[in-house]
Amino acid sequence: SKRVYLLNEGNKDMKMLLGGKGANLCEMAKLTLPVPPAFIITTETCLEYFKEGTGDLPKALDYSDALKALEEDTGKKFGDPKKPLLVSVRSGAPASMPGMMDTVLNLGLNDEIVQGIIETTGNERFAYDTYRRFLNMYSDVVMGLEKEPFEEVITEMKKKKGIKLDVEMQAADWKEVVEEFKKLNPNVPDDPREQLRGAILAVFRSWNNDRAIRYRSYNGIPDEWGTAVSVQAMAYGNMNDGCGTGVAFSRNPSTGENKFFGEFLPNAAGEDVVAGIRTPQPLEEMAAKWPEVYDELFKYQDKLENYYGDMQDIEFTVEDGRLYMLQCRNGKRTAKASVKIAVDMVKEGTLSERDALLRIPANQMDFFLHPTLDPSAEKTLIAEGLPASPGAATGKIVFTPDDAEAMANVGEDVILVRKETTPEDIHGMKSAQGVLTSLGGMTSHAAVVARGMGKCCVSGCTAAEVDLSQKTLTLGDRVLNEHDVITVDGSTGEVYLGTVDRRSAAEDEDFQTVLKWADDLRKLKVLTNADTPDQATTARNLGSEGIGLCRTEHMFFDPERISVMRAMIVSEGREERIQHLNKMAEFQREDVAALLKAMDGLPVTIRLLDPPLHEFLPHSKEDMQALADTVGKPLSVIEDRVAQLQEVNPMLGFRGCRLSVVYPEITEMQAKAVAAGAAECKKAGLDPRPEIMVPVVSTARELKLIVPRIEEAVREELAETGQQVKIPVGTMIELPRACQTADEIVETDGVSFVSFGTNDLTQSVWGFSRDDAIKFIGRYSEQGLLDFDPFARIDEDGVGGLVSSALAKAREAAPETKVGICGEHGGEPQSVKFFHDQSFDYVSCSPFRVPIARIAAGQAAA
Ligand code: ADP
Ligand code: MG
Ligand code: MG
Repeated sequence: SKRVYLLNEGNKDMKMLLGGKGANLCEMAKLTLPVPPAFIITTETCLEYFKEGTGDLPKALDYSDALKALEEDTGKKFGDPKKPLLVSVRSGAPASMPGMMDTVLNLGLNDEIVQGIIETTGNERFAYDTYRRFLNMYSDVVMGLEKEPFEEVITEMKKKKGIKLDVEMQAADWKEVVEEFKKLNPNVPDDPREQLRGAILAVFRSWNNDRAIRYRSYNGIPDEWGTAVSVQAMAYGNMNDGCGTGVAFSRNPSTGENKFFGEFLPNAAGEDVVAGIRTPQPLEEMAAKWPEVYDELFKYQDKLENYYGDMQDIEFTVEDGRLYMLQCRNGKRTAKASVKIAVDMVKEGTLSERDALLRIPANQMDFFLHPTLDPSAEKTLIAEGLPASPGAATGKIVFTPDDAEAMANVGEDVILVRKETTPEDIHGMKSAQGVLTSLGGMTSHAAVVARGMGKCCVSGCTAAEVDLSQKTLTLGDRVLNEHDVITVDGSTGEVYLGTVDRRSAAEDEDFQTVLKWADDLRKLKVLTNADTPDQATTARNLGSEGIGLCRTEHMFFDPERISVMRAMIVSEGREERIQHLNKMAEFQREDVAALLKAMDGLPVTIRLLDPPLHEFLPHSKEDMQALADTVGKPLSVIEDRVAQLQEVNPMLGFRGCRLSVVYPEITEMQAKAVAAGAAECKKAGLDPRPEIMVPVVSTARELKLIVPRIEEAVREELAETGQQVKIPVGTMIELPRACQTADEIVETDGVSFVSFGTNDLTQSVWGFSRDDAIKFIGRYSEQGLLDFDPFARIDEDGVGGLVSSALAKAREAAPETKVGICGEHGGEPQSVKFFHDQSFDYVSCSPFRVPIARIAAGQAAA
């Protein structure tokens, strides 16, 4: 098969084979944009490399003709000091993985060829600058040497000369740097062909470096794809002041505004912009300096955006006044920008509502629910940087990605403060609430990655001095230490001291438009899991169509109530229990009434108690003493009772409907409380629609016992109040046995709905306890045993398979039964698609996931 493609042999639809970068280079060349000549080695060749496992290039790979073609196109010769051809060797996967894999630039240099460049160009500074870049990159990427000692050489040199910026370095300085570099690594091969071989191998290998593997697992990119390698003639942005390099977006990737946007660094090479070496200039300055070049670039970005039908992210280099296009791709953007661009493109008539909806990254839409700073809040501005990725976050300062991760793991909100970020920082950025960097522009690594994650970021905060060894952040006279609290606003670039009040962005008009598109299309209803009237109101404002799960045990977490619950649990007999239950009934009635009011006219599914007993029992001596005092018993009685109730495995213990089997009075109390709350609402002229749900059912026989008791209690209570309210009864399906016998369950008299509890179902199907899985699940994903966390996204093969066969049985036995799911999966876009495809009636998710579920349900139906 063909392993090597020239630019005129590929096109944009060949991403799987040529990688996104390679395919788009071909397409730009086809559109007659000025792309430096290149050839592309296929992703299949990369896979072949891993398969052969010799550590050398695949035997069948031969790029000598392609290299000749490059030489003919450029009129230069690889390895020839008289007219040297230098190339870049670039990675590029089928899906964009910015900065995760490796690239080597300016390859094809050695001492002799550098002399050749000096003689032919007369530009000694350029020659040595290019050479030091090559030596540095080759040592790092191909030979695996540490970067720091190389950077140190440059820092030292600058110190010695009393200069700050790379551009101030003279030819002789770079020459000296080159000599130092050669001492640090005397083993860079002299033979350009050997260099090329080494670089191609390094790019192949970089597919499997840690950060690439991690990025793929975060982003669901298959490990089996491999990377392509583009070998491309260099365009030089570092020859003189008539050169430069930049990154541009056809629309603003941060706000979505339809305005050409970008950054430019004069006399610099490609990697300088992304690495945040200097803070770049806005493109407007380039427009003023080189109007023709700017106009040409403007024309191309417009052409590319129209052609691809999406916002484009472009890399370009200007060599002696000539523009070269080095990359284009659909641009990463913030949640806010993705919504604005989609809505604008529909208004502009370039996208249909359906296609625009499908472009929305549903997962990132919680940005709109996360707060922005309240403009009227009091605040102390301490610094200003660039608004690199919008949103606002408050947290404790940390200086390393590992610290960020460690703090986040114990539930702390942190702001990751760095000079600049690199791909090694990803896990820290992921863990942090926000990111602050002192260097780097709007297109720096930190900015790009933060936007992709929907994480707020302020970059280029030049006033900030970050001292990693002291762990201090200095802003003028102010010195902040690790764990001091700051607030960053990625929408304005502002940094504040301490905590600042925030508010939600959910009213955003464009966001509402997108939600409306989704609502028009979706078949799934979206309900919420809410236990308090506050949550219910929040969810309703976010578009929830009812409560799919109210966990009544959550109504008893507050200190006053928990003591009643505890007293009930440790009761020694029915009489005593009923006494405490009556108190609980009072709370329950009030809460139910408040929920029904908040969800007036919409279903409110109230689940009977499913208390994890160990969470409610007192553990400490003081708590037991307090309980003893409350119930007026000796401490020893309480201790005995607690010991009796201790369970070896609470997850599979005395919970759910098992409680109803043993203590019918608990269920009776709850059913009456629901009926009483409903009656109260009805009397007040509302339209209450409560439903009662039985948890942790494993056999239909449990329901045959419990459902009539519920119905009886409801009947009694309603008769007493004289109100008429329909209160359907249903059950959770959250155990494998319930799935297997779903037909019997739905055929049970009085069961009118079932809700799959996918959290417990995942636990019981995998046999993983959610609380204990933390200890090993990370190692599972690292070693490729799990592609994703089955507690976050439905495991379609295992858990999903069981759900789907249960659903088929249920539908066959009782087609009119309403079927839903509650659990974390109800707000996770890919799972929502699964439930849509299975023709569920509704999903129920936590309040802040409701808009995400609405969009995902719309997309699933589109
Ligand atoms: P990444 O995927 O990390 O962006 P790239 O392959 O795009 O890696 O290259 C890194 C940097 O080098 C980019 O700024 C790019 O524009 C620049 N670059 C790559 N190839 C060339 C080339 N042939 N001439 C000039 N600059 C180049
Ligand atoms: Mg690039
Ligand atoms: Mg459960």
